[in-house]
Amino acid sequence: MKILKFGGTSVQSADSIRKSVDCILRYGGDNPVVVLSALAGTTNSLIEAINLSLNEISESVEIINQLEFKHLNVLKDLCPQSFNNTSIEIKNIFDDIKRKLSAIEFLGEITPFNFASVSSYGEILSTKIFLSYLNEIGIDSSLLNIQNYLITDSNFKEAKIDFNISLCKFKDNTAHFLKNGIKLTQGFIASDLKNRTTILGRGGSDYTSAVIGNLLKKSGLDIDEIQIWTDVSGILSADPRMIPAAKTIKSISAKEVRIMSYLGAKVLHPDTIKPALEADIRVSVRNTFIPDGDYTVIQNNFTDQFPKLNTIINLREVNELNFDIPGSSNSWEIANHINNIAFSAGCKPISINISEESITSYYFNSIDVFFDTKYADFISFQKVFLLAITGTLVNKKLFEVINALPENASIISINNNAIFIKSTFEFSIENIDLLHNRLIQNFD
Ligand code: ASP
Ligand code: MG
Repeated sequence: MKILKFGGTSVQSADSIRKSVDCILRYGGDNPVVVLSALAGTTNSLIEAINLSLNEISESVEIINQLEFKHLNVLKDLCPQSFNNTSIEIKNIFDDIKRKLSAIEFLGEITPFNFASVSSYGEILSTKIFLSYLNEIGIDSSLLNIQNYLITDSNFKEAKIDFNISLCKFKDNTAHFLKNGIKLTQGFIASDLKNRTTILGRGGSDYTSAVIGNLLKKSGLDIDEIQIWTDVSGILSADPRMIPAAKTIKSISAKEVRIMSYLGAKVLHPDTIKPALEADIRVSVRNTFIPDGDYTVIQNNFTDQFPKLNTIINLREVNELNFDIPGSSNSWEIANHINNIAFSAGCKPISINISEESITSYYFNSIDVFFDTKYADFISFQKVFLLAITGTLVNKKLFEVINALPENASIISINNNAIFIKSTFEFSIENIDLLHNRLIQNFD
């Protein structure tokens, strides 16, 4: 059994919903579970409407009216025959939303419960429209209300899943998931033990699909793959807006994806798919709009590792902090202080190099806090430019990287999955493109 998750852009219009259905029919196997996000932008609009409802209820209602119009248009395009029936349901949902917004205005307060309750409607609407379309074109399908299965604590806006209770719900109802046809369900939303709506935090639909995979597998079902369908062809070797030759990495470790995400690359955060990786379910990231194109498989661990460079990430301008250790002091003790200062100020370190006579560290954020400390006299700082090259067993690739470096660039540190390169000049696109050409491989 496969689980397919479609993100907001994959369900944003009638056309993309048709494409998503095509992906399900071609890549979903016999009996898929399909998890949907809200139509792109919907959750943002709902949250905007919630915030406006306190003092500007008419603007808030205007946002909801526009959302209603958009949803009804998509429905009309997809379901000319069943439009009348489903549109009544959709209108009822929008009436509920407006009632809840008026209640917030009346209360004069946005409680976490009300926030979660209103923001959950995007997924309820998208699944309803998607289901009507599947029915309209005669595809065997059913809707499973995820709120009957995924039980969370009552931290409404960033609820935590109770895996034990949820597992019982899945085990008691595996028959529903084994039914023939497409089983459609909502991402992002859940409910607490008292049946109240909760949400999993922004972008939570990826997490929903991973949790469903985990719990179905623990319920004894054979879960083969989770496919995350989005609008890019998996994880790319560089930012394609800068490096048009960027290509899809066919397989990558979760560890490397974690580093990429830490360094600011716009990739799926591996924590969102952790429950799937822990249950040894393979996760692929695929493009709804180029379904036959390349895609990325994310794996928990590579057993058979070989040296490979996968991506170049331009970190652009960062702050370099240099600390000259006074003769009488211990570098490791000072490093400890420096880390504490950075941590309390929320300075995110990119790399820290400690030796007996100096400490050099790199931060994304401003490092002014260091100049208010007793160390001010020993500190100097400069703006520098960094690139990271990520991969597996990157230290075995060091010489290749050194040979490919542009003038004025040098390596500042290496860890398991990344080599950091520094320059006092901004890296030009030509330089990055050249490095990409010479270094990045892609093995199948
Ligand atoms: N619709 C929700 C959001 O935009 C969840 C998701 O898209 O994954 O945050
Ligand atoms: Mg979304």
